[in-house]
Amino acid sequence: MEQGKGLVVIVEDEAHIADLQRMYLGREGFGVHVESDGLAGLAAVRRLRPVAVVLDLGLPGLDGMEFCRRLREGGDWTPILMVTARDEEADRVIGLELGADDYLTKPFSPRELVARVKTVLRRAAGPPGEPVLTLGALALDPSRRSVHLDGRPVDLTTTEFNLLAYLMRHSGQVFSRAQLQAQVWGYADYRDGRVVDVYVSQLRAKLADASPIRTVRGVGYSAGPS
Ligand code: CA
Repeated sequence: MEQGKGLVVIVEDEAHIADLQRMYLGREGFGVHVESDGLAGLAAVRRLRPVAVVLDLGLPGLDGMEFCRRLREGGDWTPILMVTARDEEADRVIGLELGADDYLTKPFSPRELVARVKTVLRRAAGPPGEPVLTLGALALDPSRRSVHLDGRPVDLTTTEFNLLAYLMRHSGQVFSRAQLQAQVWGYADYRDGRVVDVYVSQLRAKLADASPIRTVRGVGYSAGPS
């Protein structure tokens, strides 16, 4: 199978869904490795170092949430696209808090799956040589994808980084949740604003007093000096 776009590990216990995912992503030029059990999936990610993981929430062995928690605890920031059922909204939010980068709701279309995988892979890196962005004690380097607070590195997931980079690039501008979902997640249609809120609160937790993100009541969010 062609692997021009890198390897994606799919962790899914329903064989017909895994087969569809394998087919859609394979057509797009991704290499695909499938596991049907959470523990085997985690071992595969650690062994194969894929470019992204498509992770079912309900799995034998180890569920999707515990999978995210263990992978992130080990310092592995491989982008994770979590696949959930419609009635799992609360779980979905917890999954995002545990370090998933985005989610997809079953049933999904091939176009949606491919678009979401491409988005978690899309780097927020700007044009080559884009200067380091600073706000107070915070320094974000778009080309190295690194964030430092008072000179100390801060670990961010891909999506946390992309959101922070977007807001810092447009410092002082106010964005609605719908605008941020379109710009950072690439959603064509507005979904629920919860996703944006979850990532803002995670960034605030990680950056504490140095967080440059302001809530603009009734509008959305903005980044600016504290
Ligand atoms: Ca399942």
